[in-house]
Amino acid sequence: MYDSVIVGAGPAGMSAALYLVRFGRNIALVESMTPGGQVLLTSEVENIPSIKEIKGYELADSMKAQLDAYSYDYITEQVTSIEKTSSHFILHTANGKTLLAKTVIIASGARYKRAGIPNEVEFTGKGISYCALCDGNFYRNLPVAVVGGGNSALEEALYLARIVKEVHLIHRRDSFKAARIYVDKAKALPNIIFHTDSVVEDVLVEDMVKGAIIKNTKTGATEKLNVEGIFIYVGMQPNTEFIPQELERDASGFIVAGLEMETNIPGLYVAGDVRVKQYRQIATAMGDGVTAGCSANHYLENE
Ligand SMILES: Cc1cc2nc3c(=O)[nH]c(=O)nc-3n(C[C@H](O)[C@H](O)[C@H](O)COP(=O)(O)OP(=O)(O)OC[C@H]3O[C@@H](n4cnc5c(N)ncnc54)[C@H](O)[C@@H]3O)c2cc1C
Repeated sequence: MYDSVIVGAGPAGMSAALYLVRFGRNIALVESMTPGGQVLLTSEVENIPSIKEIKGYELADSMKAQLDAYSYDYITEQVTSIEKTSSHFILHTANGKTLLAKTVIIASGARYKRAGIPNEVEFTGKGISYCALCDGNFYRNLPVAVVGGGNSALEEALYLARIVKEVHLIHRRDSFKAARIYVDKAKALPNIIFHTDSVVEDVLVEDMVKGAIIKNTKTGATEKLNVEGIFIYVGMQPNTEFIPQELERDASGFIVAGLEMETNIPGLYVAGDVRVKQYRQIATAMGDGVTAGCSANHYLENE
């Protein structure tokens, strides 16, 4: 019986694990892939306070090495379900393993939905991005495009407009799902150019993205945009296929947590991108992980 089992070895899960091992807790960290999570999908990270710049894989290795100085079980398995009994949790994995735990921390992250445009997968990190806060700075004074019409797309367009030369906002409808205030603010900025009823027909590439061809879905007319970056915001999906039914979620499936990362199930905590939150970043995931680790420890003390 573990004091705590943590699901997911991204920044949130590894931060939670670090705090729990330092509290002397007997823990298992379960990860289905390589430790690091989404950090492994980014080449350069430049926005972790106190670290000027670091490669994604170096950050992942460094988090894991710090943890490996302590005694804990690292298990490469995919968690497929979690059951709550009256006294503890039972976790099942894809390979038929069963883990027992007094507390569980879900830190399984989220994934960006793809827009399905040409070259999207191959050029992610080479001009295609899903995160303006992460990558916007690489496009300082350059023209970029934003794809989407919801709050995230509009918020990111507004953020980018402050640092890039111009933002081409491409949205397949002529009305926006985003709050009116964001649309009005974007329309008031001279460097946000609206392309409604439009879709990305092609992404022009050399070694990096060099432009986009957009098509008006009503007239069929095409236009070439000289953009160096394309930011896609068509939604994000939490990795929650294995969580208990009774765990409270929002309409998009993200897990609802209180300030101390507690959920509606006592002893079950959540951290990082998988929970309902506004800013999904490495530093915020680490902060969540620290809080969840401390909360799980507090729960165990009061058991
Ligand atoms: C391309 C890209 C670039 C980014 N750049 C930056 C940046 O520059 N700066 C920044 O601050 N943020 C950046 N981000 C965002 C940042 O990486 C995330 O906010 C952060 O990694 C979230 O951490 P997490 O631990 O919550 O989740 P994740 O990093 O998603 O980790 C979750 C882990 O859980 C594992 N997992 C999921 N389900 C299961 C299961 N059932 N069983 C076992 N394991 C499971 C996954 O394999 C994964 O390893 C970027 C994201 C992307 C995609």
